Amino acid sequence: STESAAGLRIRDLRVVFDGFAAVDGVDIDVPPGDVRFIIGPNGAGKTTLVDAVTGLVKASGSASFGGQELLGRKVHHINRLGIGRTFQTATVFEELTVLQNLDIAAGTGRGPLTMLRRRKSVPEGVAQAMEAIGLATARNKLAGTLAHGQKQWLEIGMLLVQDAKLLLLDEPVAGMSHDERETTGELLGLLSKERTVVVIEHDMDFLRRFARTVTVMHAGRKLSEGSVAQVQADPKVQEVYLGH
Ligand code: ADP
Repeated sequence: STESAAGLRIRDLRVVFDGFAAVDGVDIDVPPGDVRFIIGPNGAGKTTLVDAVTGLVKASGSASFGGQELLGRKVHHINRLGIGRTFQTATVFEELTVLQNLDIAAGTGRGPLTMLRRRKSVPEGVAQAMEAIGLATARNKLAGTLAHGQKQWLEIGMLLVQDAKLLLLDEPVAGMSHDERETTGELLGLLSKERTVVVIEHDMDFLRRFARTVTVMHAGRKLSEGSVAQVQADPKVQEVYLGH
């Protein structure tokens, strides 16, 4: 269908490290507009799956977005196809301002002079991203002085200005306060209106509140999939994940 062509489609994905299958034949479909949470115990293969989709590790099978095959392509090529990823530790330029970080990500910061000057006009994409991540009033703050949550939002903003259509977020609310989590959950809902969002997450409270669909991984395989209520009621999930 056109839906699966526009979203993320993973088929028989396999990643092998020294004979050990960290991802062992996984099929996942994330339609456009979904906020898909991927959960599972440590070592389940969640990060490796995202690494495969973003070109950081070699994988077999298929992973396509918008009908374009991603496997076998270089990281920068995958980025250019609109795939953006965050890591657990936000990778922002701490000595630069919020605006400068977004400018660099957008490719609109043209050289050191432009970067150091306070801009009079901000490119529209950058202005929209600043609004979306709630940092418009903090635009001239140094990223290094931001709260933990704000750094995570800035990193998401850097993907937005690159026009990422698939956002892969690795534990975005780890270490966040309750209020920051709520704001992040609302941000995910907002982002999903025009993008496909995949979130690796451990926090069950956050999941219950903001996940639309959940894929549960265990030992490199897909164990269960469905709404939060459906996967929580699945005995297989209770046994390996929720039973502790
Ligand atoms: P998760 O993100 O679900 O905690 P990972 O994808 O990080 O799981 O890891 C899945 C399995 O693959 C683990 O057993 C881990 O030790 C192994 N693994 C991950 N990366 C590598 C690597 N580069 N080399 C060898 N084994 C790895």
